Amino acid sequence: MTMTARPRIALIAHDKKKDEMIALAREYLGFLQECSLCATGTTGGRLAKELGLAVERMHSGPVGGDLQIGARLVSGGIDCVVFLRDPMTPQPHEPDINALVRACDVHDIACATNVSTARLVLSQLMRSGAQA
Ligand code: PGA
Repeated sequence: MTMTARPRIALIAHDKKKDEMIALAREYLGFLQECSLCATGTTGGRLAKELGLAVERMHSGPVGGDLQIGARLVSGGIDCVVFLRDPMTPQPHEPDINALVRACDVHDIACATNVSTARLVLSQLMRSGAQA
C-alpha cells in the first residue's frame, strides 16, 4: 500500500451495518483521529455525532455518495475504503456500490467490505504510520 503521511480513508456502512461501523471506529478511534476521513452522509453523521470524529460528509449513498467517493478515489484522493456492505438486503443503488468496488480494483485501492478485513487493513495502516 502506498500511503501519504496522513492516511485518507473513506468510510461507508449500509443501514444494518452502521452499528458495526461505529463499534469498529471506536476500536480504532485514536488512529482514525489522525487520519483524513470522508464518508457517505448518514454514516459520516453518526461517526461525527457519536464519536466526535472530524469527517467530510458526502451525499448519502443512495443519492450518489458512493459515486462521489469513487470519483475522488479515481483522482488519487483516497488511500483505503472501509465499506461495510449489507449482503442480505437489496440496495436501490447497487450499480453505484459495484462501481465503487470496481474502481477500488481498477486503481488497486484496499477495500475492506467486512469488519474482519477492516481490522486487518486498519491495523496495517497503523503499523505503517508508526514506522514512518
Ligand atoms: P449513508 O450511505 O451513509 O448515507 O447511509 C451509505 C449507503 O447506504 O450506501
